[in-house]
Parts: sequence; structure tokens; C-alpha cells
Amino acid sequence: MADEKGFTLWFTGLSGAGKTTISEIVERELRARGSKVEVLDGDVVRENLSKGLGFSKEDRDTNIRRIAFVADLLSRNGVPVITAAISPYREIRDEARETMGDRFIEVFVKASVEVCAERDVKGLYEKAFKGEIKEFTGVSDPYEAPPNPEIVCHTEQEAPEESAQKLIAYLEERELIPAREAATV
Ligand code: ADP
Repeated sequence: MADEKGFTLWFTGLSGAGKTTISEIVERELRARGSKVEVLDGDVVRENLSKGLGFSKEDRDTNIRRIAFVADLLSRNGVPVITAAISPYREIRDEARETMGDRFIEVFVKASVEVCAERDVKGLYEKAFKGEIKEFTGVSDPYEAPPNPEIVCHTEQEAPEESAQKLIAYLEERELIPAREAATV
């Protein structure tokens, strides 16, 4: 896509809420349209950009500020970005919003602790409930839900594809991506 518009779809939500799953679908759809979209996934970032950081408030804030820094660099140069990290603290997300202004689109990937624990994709909730993992978001560490996100994905009720479609429709609506041309018969 020539002359793409930069923006950041900033996902926030509990572990297992569906951030990675939905981000992968949106990424695929944008790439299929020729976009140079980049994804900053929390788990991936912690393996490289934030390697060595733990889960104290200070380390979590540093991790999120790094993600915001890179998202800002890319998006201000016309690269669409999707971030998929828990980002539990409102204040740090608001900092990212402050930095990126209109380019920042907050997406609350919403599912209750109970549902995320039932899914328990990585087996982490079981360990957290047993006390084997300290500082686990939603169990033994805070999660501050966004009061005014641009979009909410209700992953207890919507299929991942529906959530992804909602995001694509929002981006089209704001003319951040071109509307898909009607298929020619
Ligand atoms: P996160 O990145 O938020 O930690 P993941 O995407 O890794 O979450 O895991 C979410 C899990 O929930 C996946 O196993 C996914 O298949 C499942 N899931 C069930 N329903 C949904 C939904 N509507 N949206 C997203 N994920 C869903």
C-alpha cells in the first residue's frame, strides 16, 4: 500500500483474553491488502526488546513504555502497528495515548478472569491460583480496565473473526485503511 497511514491498535486485556489471536487475524487481513503492518506482541517483546524484565510494577511500566516508544516511531512514519501486551496500568496506556494522539486506538480485549482461567491457554492461571506464579495479572496483580476504549472486543460472546472484522470496519470508517473494493463478478 503506497502512502499508508500510520496508527497503533493498542490491545489491552488479561492473559488469555484473545489479544494474540485477534491481532494475528487483523495482521493477516491488513497484509492481504498490501499493508506493512508490524505487530508488537507482549510475549515476543519480552523475549528480546524487554529481555530480563520481570513483573514488578516498575518493570511492567518499562516494558510498556518501550512498546509505546517503538509503536510511536513506526506509526509516525506511516507504518500501522498492533500491540498485544496486557498493559495493565491505565496511567501508562494514557501516556502512550498522549504521545501518539490521534494515532492511538485503544482496544479492550475483554474476558473475565474466570473465562481466561477456563481457557488457560498457557497453563499459567492454574499455577497462579496455586501461588506458584506471583504477581499474575487478574489473580494476584492489578488489571485496570480502560474506561473509554475506542473499541471493545467481547471475546466471551464474539468469535475472534468477528472481533477482527469489527476492528477492520473501524479502520475503514476512519479512513485509516482503504475500504475493500467490491469483488468483481
Ligand atoms: P492473549 O494474547 O490475550 O494472552 P491468546 O490470544 O494467546 O490471548 O489466547 C486466547 C485464547 O482464547 C485462544 O486459545 C483463543 O483460541 C481463545 N478464544 C476463544 N474465544 C475467543 C475469542 N472470541 N477471541 C479471541 N480468542 C478466543
